[in-house]
Amino acid sequence: MKVFVINCGSSSIKYQLFDMTDESVLAKGLLERLGNSGANLQHQGKTGKVEPECSAKNHRDGLALILESLVHPQYGVIENIEQIEVVGHRVVHGGEQFNQAVRIDNKVIKAIEDCAKLAPLHNPPNLAGIAAAKEALPKAVQVAIFDTAFHNTLAKRAFVYALPYEWYKKYGIRRYGFHGTSHQYVAQRAAEMLGRPLSKLNLITAHLGNGCSITAIRAGQSVETSMGLTPAEGLVMGTRGGDMDPAIIFHLAGKSGMSLEEINKALQKQSGLLGISGLSNDMRDIIQAGKEGNERARLALEIFTYRLKKYIGAYTAVLGKVDGLVFTGGIGENSVAVRQRAVEGLSGLGMLLDQKANETATGGQACEISAANSGVKILVIPTNEELLIGRQSVEVAKELGEA
Ligand code: ADP
Repeated sequence: MKVFVINCGSSSIKYQLFDMTDESVLAKGLLERLGNSGANLQHQGKTGKVEPECSAKNHRDGLALILESLVHPQYGVIENIEQIEVVGHRVVHGGEQFNQAVRIDNKVIKAIEDCAKLAPLHNPPNLAGIAAAKEALPKAVQVAIFDTAFHNTLAKRAFVYALPYEWYKKYGIRRYGFHGTSHQYVAQRAAEMLGRPLSKLNLITAHLGNGCSITAIRAGQSVETSMGLTPAEGLVMGTRGGDMDPAIIFHLAGKSGMSLEEINKALQKQSGLLGISGLSNDMRDIIQAGKEGNERARLALEIFTYRLKKYIGAYTAVLGKVDGLVFTGGIGENSVAVRQRAVEGLSGLGMLLDQKANETATGGQACEISAANSGVKILVIPTNEELLIGRQSVEVAKELGEA
């Protein structure tokens, strides 16, 4: 069965076409810079192609270009688009309603629209992708997979903020959590690697990419996670600072004359690694500059890993006993320095790295990096959100008897 997985951002479409009979990737790619100037398509099918100046004003045009590439005699991998039976859409915010993947109908679209208030940058492009795919592939089953769904198992004590309770009831102000598909995927892989059922494991999973979040998972269920109402809370990220005193906003507005909008922009786009270092939001640049003696880059790395360590400690307390700690995302999968600093000094919690294994874990392979006498297994697992979206889309289609 051919399953097409798409992830629409405000000006981009990331995609993969799977043959789910053996979970092989037939084609994948990224279309960037959707809009009035030329868009840029990088497609890898039978052969690869880069089209730097294509015309794609919106998601509809963009999807048409991608589908053309999938059936192209040279770059394509299928004869016609009717072979695509299922489309899996990554949707960022599903609010409280969705705890699993669902077939998209008008009610689901309405619910995603309602959640757009909570994710104004993400849900509207997700909806544009859904509309475009429904139009271009009317016979395919359309499935929505929500970033928030995996965290729907959080107990009230973990998701209600200590704020006036009516705000939760009236405005939906609560912790939702994000990166759910990634945390769930690596948890399943960790269980496979440890040779134990997920239902018997306590795991801490750290997804460290441009956005960063950490989750405590008991028996396969998310019980605590660092991102909150929005993806701004928790760990230090590329351009977001994560946890902070909310009074800073009001203090700053009074002192600097910045508008709320300007402060919000600075918190979302000019904070985190970029804000501390004044240099870059990219961890590779931060590490390199630190090696060359840049003090603020060193401080950025220190704050990033210190915050991460605090969360590992807190989530150990939440779980009581931890079987596995998993690093994933571009930083988690590749950065020897981040993993080393985050785990340093945690032998009291049963976490000990094997230095050599940590140093060699950079090649995108899943591996164990804990020392033989570490009570907690420490793992590096490349995430694969697209594959989990593909699997969950097939399950939904099968339940409907459409596959
Ligand atoms: P996204 O969240 O956009 O999917 P990724 O998961 O690809 O992003 O992660 C991007 C981050 O991974 C960037 O900060 C990048 O610097 C970091 N990264 C990638 N490779 C390395 C590396 N070898 N060492 C350190 N950081 C790396």
